[in-house]
Amino acid sequence: MDGPLSYLSRVAWGVVVVAALLGLVALRVTGCTPVPPHPATLGQPEIAAAVPPKRPLSHDCSARGWEHAAHINASSLAALPWTPFGRDEVGWRIYAPMIAREIGVACPPQSTGFARALAAWQKAQGVAPDGLISQATFVHLKGVVQGRRPFVLLAAHGVCAEPAKESTLAAGRPDEIFGDKQVYLRPGAFAAYRRMVAAARAEEPALAADPDLLKIFSGYRSPAYDAERCASQNNCNGRERATCSPHRTGLAMDLYLGHAPGFSADSSADANRLMMAQSPAYRWLVDNADRFGFVNYPFEPWHWEWTGEAPRTPGGAAGVVNAARSP
Ligand SMILES: [Zn+2]
Repeated sequence: MDGPLSYLSRVAWGVVVVAALLGLVALRVTGCTPVPPHPATLGQPEIAAAVPPKRPLSHDCSARGWEHAAHINASSLAALPWTPFGRDEVGWRIYAPMIAREIGVACPPQSTGFARALAAWQKAQGVAPDGLISQATFVHLKGVVQGRRPFVLLAAHGVCAEPAKESTLAAGRPDEIFGDKQVYLRPGAFAAYRRMVAAARAEEPALAADPDLLKIFSGYRSPAYDAERCASQNNCNGRERATCSPHRTGLAMDLYLGHAPGFSADSSADANRLMMAQSPAYRWLVDNADRFGFVNYPFEPWHWEWTGEAPRTPGGAAGVVNAARSP
């Protein structure tokens, strides 16, 4: 059993930092310079207890000259045939809150202000600034968002993060678990989660009114557990669940956001994801979770990863901490 001191010292000596450049992170799995961790990475909420401020979003949703783009977006919103995550989908309503947040507006996706902000984002990103949501624009935006997930950055370099040491994980409290299975996470992830949920309930009345929202229904999962579930339930989530799930890190958690009638809390059916994407819980998370160091896998509204600590890498080296986004 590793004690808390050995855990902390391993974190302190193992953390490495990447340089974040224009939202894309240049990763070197080995050879990075160890630096002292930010206090928040040590899982000591008393050190970093202040709630980070909200980031400003533009509420100027009218923009002359963008009527045509807004009209096209309004048409494609529920009708665009595309494959944003490799699977046929129709329309981009599921992703509209995430896109709006990314381009910095609190505007309806069919508004001229949305089109103008999208064009400005496209221009800054080197994408044709037409103000239109398309497969190409979304793929670029998805790359930016996914680039904030240390687990994904490792995977992009052919490295599957090592499983967390189970002796270092903490158990959830009964009032923060949805379902009947205990949830385990790294202590720092729990601390960040608790700060985030407290802020969510203070800032969003719909979340204060339903204590089930934002509860955790899955945290750490061992590779053996996921492989067994894959085999027994024929539910392998495109093989990732069986071979290399972020849930092995102790940094990933699935949050209860509600669900559409007839679906489970983690059903990836489009109707279920659409319901979640339009829920107050998801919208609050999209706009605020990064204040607490969390990033989302946009295909799964319920899946969030804490970036305040690095995933473990094979051989005992630390992975990467998304320094630009962590609290
Ligand atoms: Zn998940």
